[in-house]
Amino acid sequence: MNFQLTEEHLAVQAAAREFAQTELLPGVIERDEHQKFPAEQIKKMGELGFLGMMVDPKYNGGGMDTISYVLAMEEISKVDASASVVMSVNNSLVCWGLEKYGTEEQKQKYLTRLATGEIIGAFCLSEPEAGSDATSQRTTAEDKGDYYLLNGTKNWITNGSTASVYLVIAQTDPEKKHRGINAFIVERGMEGFQVGLKENKLGIRGSDTHSLMFTDVKVPKENRIGEDGFGFKFAMSTLAGGRIGIAAQALGIASGAYELAVKYSKERKAFGVEIAKHQAIQFKLADMATNIEAARLLCLKAAFHKDTHQDYGMSGAMAKLFASKVAMETTVEAVQVHGGYGFVKEYHVERLMRDAKITQIYEGTSEIQKIVISRELLK
Ligand SMILES: Cc1cc2nc3c(=O)[nH]c(=O)nc-3n(C[C@H](O)[C@H](O)[C@H](O)COP(=O)(O)OP(=O)(O)OC[C@H]3O[C@@H](n4cnc5c(N)ncnc54)[C@H](O)[C@@H]3O)c2cc1C
Repeated sequence: MNFQLTEEHLAVQAAAREFAQTELLPGVIERDEHQKFPAEQIKKMGELGFLGMMVDPKYNGGGMDTISYVLAMEEISKVDASASVVMSVNNSLVCWGLEKYGTEEQKQKYLTRLATGEIIGAFCLSEPEAGSDATSQRTTAEDKGDYYLLNGTKNWITNGSTASVYLVIAQTDPEKKHRGINAFIVERGMEGFQVGLKENKLGIRGSDTHSLMFTDVKVPKENRIGEDGFGFKFAMSTLAGGRIGIAAQALGIASGAYELAVKYSKERKAFGVEIAKHQAIQFKLADMATNIEAARLLCLKAAFHKDTHQDYGMSGAMAKLFASKVAMETTVEAVQVHGGYGFVKEYHVERLMRDAKITQIYEGTSEIQKIVISRELLK
C-alpha cells in the first residue's frame, strides 16, 4: 500500500491546475451565463495533451495512466466542469472505446486525430425513450450488405454540435434484443445526419448538449465497431471506465467549492471575527474535507484497478455514486458558508452547485450505480 503520488503524477496535476487557473477561470462565469462552448480553451487542452491522455503514443496520445487522468480531471473540474465533461467524453468514452475495440484502420483514421484534440468525439447511447434502460434502443441500423442504414434520434448528446466523430449505438436485429445492438462510427456531414436544438441546462451550461437525428444515413460496414452484435457490450464496457472520469469530475467540483469556502471563511468577518473562527463553519469545513478525501480515495482506487487490469466495474460505480453525492452536499454547504454572496454568480459556488447535479445523472444515475454495485455484491 502506497499513498504517494509519483513525480509524473504531481507534474500532471500541477500542469492541469495551472491550465485551469490561467486559461479556464477567466470567462467561466460568462460562458456559463451565455451557454458558450469553451472552444478556444478546448483547443489548448488538446495541444497540451489533455484530450487523449491515456491513448498509446503511437496513436498520438499521452500514454498516461488512469491515475494521471483522475488528477487532471479533478483540477480542471474545480474551475470549469463544462470543459471537463468534454475532456471526459473524449478521453474515456470515445478514445478509450476506439483504442480498445476499434480496428487498426479505424484507429489510424479517427483515434490519431481525436487523441490530439484536432477533432473531438461524442458518445451517443441515450434516446428519448432509452436512458437508464439502454437496451430499449429505437434507433435502427439495417444491414444493407456493404453499409448500414441508420434511422432514429439520440438525446442529450455531449459535444453534439462540436464533435466531428460520433460513436452511435443502434439496433440491428430487434429479435436478438441487446445482442442485436451495434456500435458505429458516424462522421459529421454524412448525408441524413442532422444536429437538433441545443438544450438549455441547469448546469454545465458551457457544454454543448444536443439531440441528433439520423434519416437514412449510410454508414459503411467498416465503421462498425467490433463483431456484429457487440454494440451493447461496447457501450457498457466503455461506460464502466467513463464513470471513473465522471467520479473525478464530481470530486473536482466538490474540492473547488471547498477551496473557495475555506478562502472566503478566512476573509469574511461576522461578530468581530473571521467566520472561520466560528465552530459551526469549522465543522462544515471539516465535514467537507473528510468527505472529499474519501471520494478522492475511491476515485484513485478505481483508477488503480483499471491501470492494473483488475475489475473496475464496482469500484468505478462506487466512486461515481459517492463522489457525486459529495459534490452535491459540498457545493450546497459552500454556498451556505458564503451566505448571500454564495447566491450570486461572482463567487462561483452557485455555479458549482448547479454543475454538481449532473454528476448524479449522466453515465448512469445514482440509482443505476446502486444496481451495478449490488449486482456485484450479490453475485
Ligand atoms: C447534460 C447531459 C449530458 C448527457 N450526455 C450524454 C451523452 O453524451 N451521451 C449519452 O448517450 N447520453 C448522455 N446523457 C444522458 C444521460 O446519460 C441520461 O439522462 C441518464 O442515463 C438517465 O436517463 P434518463 O434521462 O432517460 O432517465 P430515466 O432512465 O428515465 O430515469 C428517470 C429516473 O428513474 C430512475 N430509474 C430508472 N430505472 C430505474 C431502475 N431500474 N431502478 C431504480 N431507479 C430507476 C433513474 O435513476 C432516474 O432517477 C446526458 C444527459 C444530460 C442531462
